[in-house]
Amino acid sequence: MDCLREIQGKQAHDPIFIEKMNALSSRRCICVPGPLIVGAGPSGLATAACLKEKGVPSVVLERSNCIASLWQLKTYDRLRLHLPKQFCQLPLMGFPTDFPTYPTKQQFVGYLESYARKFDIEPRFNETVSRAEYDATLGFWRVKSVGINGEETEYVCRWLVVATGENAESVVPEMEGKGEFCGDIRHTSLYKSGEEFRGKRVLVVGCGNSGMEVCLDLCNYNARPSLVVRDTVHVLPREMLGRSTFGLSMWLLKWLPIRFVDRLLLIVSWLMLGDTARFGLDRPRLGPLELKNLSGKTPVLDVGTLASIKSGDIKVCPSIKRLKRHAVEFVNGKTESFDAIILATGYKSNVPSWLKEREMFSEKDGYPRRPFPNGWKGENGLYAVGFTKRGLQGTSMDANRIAQDIERCWKHEAKHRMAFTRSVLLQQSAS
Ligand SMILES: Cc1cc2nc3c(=O)[nH]c(=O)nc-3n(C[C@H](O)[C@H](O)[C@H](O)COP(=O)(O)OP(=O)(O)OC[C@H]3O[C@@H](n4cnc5c(N)ncnc54)[C@H](O)[C@@H]3O)c2cc1C
Repeated sequence: MDCLREIQGKQAHDPIFIEKMNALSSRRCICVPGPLIVGAGPSGLATAACLKEKGVPSVVLERSNCIASLWQLKTYDRLRLHLPKQFCQLPLMGFPTDFPTYPTKQQFVGYLESYARKFDIEPRFNETVSRAEYDATLGFWRVKSVGINGEETEYVCRWLVVATGENAESVVPEMEGKGEFCGDIRHTSLYKSGEEFRGKRVLVVGCGNSGMEVCLDLCNYNARPSLVVRDTVHVLPREMLGRSTFGLSMWLLKWLPIRFVDRLLLIVSWLMLGDTARFGLDRPRLGPLELKNLSGKTPVLDVGTLASIKSGDIKVCPSIKRLKRHAVEFVNGKTESFDAIILATGYKSNVPSWLKEREMFSEKDGYPRRPFPNGWKGENGLYAVGFTKRGLQGTSMDANRIAQDIERCWKHEAKHRMAFTRSVLLQQSAS
C-alpha cells in the first residue's frame, strides 16, 4: 500500500517515472510492501522472524529448494556445530534443552525448520537473485530473480536485506596440472563422508576447521589422508579448564585485555596439545583472538585430528607445486601418489555478482566495507545480515538491529498507509 501511495504520487508528475513503470509492466512484477530478504539461511530466517515479531511482513527469496541450503546440501555428514549451542541460537527461540552442547547438523537443520514454522516463514524457493539495483527515480529497489526454468520476476521493494552469506560460493584454487590429474578433485561442499575413500590415498588441501575434520573422518573410514598446510594456523583444544574454549574466551574478555587472554589460551593449549609446530602446524605471530578480530581468520578447534597427526595417521605436507597424472609434486621437491584431492579451501560471498551498489559492499570481497559492528546498514533501505565473520552470534545481532530499524520506518509510514487506504475506500464507495 505504501508502495502504491508513493508510485501514485510520483506518476502524476514525472515522465521518466511513467516510462519506467511502463517498462516494468511488460514483465512479471511484484510489489513487496515490506522488506525483501535475499537468502533463506539462518541469517535470512532470523531477520524474517525478528521483523514478524514486530508486525512487519517480509518476502524471502532463496535460490535452492530448501531453507539453510549450506547446511542441508553442502556439508559433510559428521558435522556438528563448532561452537556450543548457546552461542548459535537464533533470536526469539532457543535450542531444545535435550540437544547436546554441540548439536549435530541434522539437529541444527531440525531446529531451523521448527524456527521457520514457528514464525510462519515461507521462502519463495528456486528463485536466484541475479540483479538488484536502487532506482533513484522510483525511490525503490528493483530486484530481478530467475527461476529454474529461466522465468524472470521483478520485485519492487522499499527495503532490501542481503542474507546470502559469507559462504555463498566455493573457492576452488587454480593448480598447475589440474587437467592432468586422473583422480577425483572435489571441494568440501561436495564431500559427504569417508565411506567412498576407504583404502585410498587422499590429499586434503586447507587446514581450517573443515580440512582438519575431513582428515579425521577419512581416518575413521580407513582412508590414508595427507593434509596440505600452506599457512600458519592456531589449533586450540575445543574445551579447556572444564569449559568450551570459545565460552571461556568470551568470559575472560569481559575482564582482561585481548592480548592477555590470547597468552592464556596459548599457554593452556601448549600444556594440552604440546608444541604444534613440531607436527608442521606453525602458529601465527598474532594470538588467536587478535588474529580473528583483525583478519577474520578462525582458529581451529581440535576435535581429535591433532592426535591422528601426532600418531602419523595424518601426514602434513607443504604447498602443492603441480599435479601429475596420479601424483602431486610439492614445493619441497617431493612427489607423492594420490587417488583423490579434497579442497577445503573455503567459500566467498557472491554479493558483487548481483548487487549493483558500490557504497556499502566492497567489490573485492563482497563484504560490507564498514567493519563490525557497523556493517549492517547502508543507504536507501539496504541492509546486510550475517557478514560479521562472527558466525551465528553476529547474525543474531544484525537481525535484531535491522528489524528495529525497519520497524521505526514501517510504523512511521503506517500512518500514511492508513490515510491512503481510507481514501481508496472512500473513492470506491463514491463510484
Ligand atoms: C562447515 C561449516 C560449519 C560451521 N559451523 C558454525 C558454527 O558452529 N557456529 C557458527 O556460528 N557458524 C558456523 N558456520 C558459519 C555458518 O556458515 C554460518 O554461521 C551460517 O550458515 C550463516 O548463515 P547465513 O544465512 O548468513 O548464510 P548461509 O547459511 O550460507 O545462507 C545463505 C543462503 O542464501 C542463499 N543465496 C545465496 N545467493 C543467493 C542468490 N543470489 N539468490 C537467492 N538466494 C541466494 C543460499 O542458497 C543460502 O541458502 C559454519 C560454516 C560452515 C561452512
